[in-house]
Amino acid sequence: MSSPADLSKKLERVFPPERFRRLVAAHDCEECDAIRATFSHKAWTDVLDAELDAHDGVLPLLTPEAYCAFLPAWIRRGLWEPDGGVATMALINMESSEHVDRFTPLQRTVLLECVQHIHQSDPFRVQDEESLRELESIQQRWRHEPGQ
Ligand SMILES: [Zn+2]
Repeated sequence: MSSPADLSKKLERVFPPERFRRLVAAHDCEECDAIRATFSHKAWTDVLDAELDAHDGVLPLLTPEAYCAFLPAWIRRGLWEPDGGVATMALINMESSEHVDRFTPLQRTVLLECVQHIHQSDPFRVQDEESLRELESIQQRWRHEPGQ
């Protein structure tokens, strides 16, 4: 099995870190102000663990472009802390994500490899049937079918 360090490097190869200069969240409220303050003008690799922990549930509030730019930050955090809140929220989100088509086949393949690693590295998930169903439905949703 690949290590979190190997998979993090893979993530950086398929999601080259680039400052995100577009709109992070479109909604007008205090929570979305905080999201904009945290993520604007950052590359996904710049977001601190503590910032991700504090905003672990915000993936659905990101614009589609910001979602694509920052999902790898959630996944990388998840690799290092597979039983943490960030991993949990990322997997819940990916199960019903509507932005799958915005990712390249290679990005999807690497994300799935990471999700599988997160699943297998968490002693709770690995023996929990609900988590296994979640993994399978993420795989089904994100797998790239050739010719698709
Ligand atoms: Zn809002």
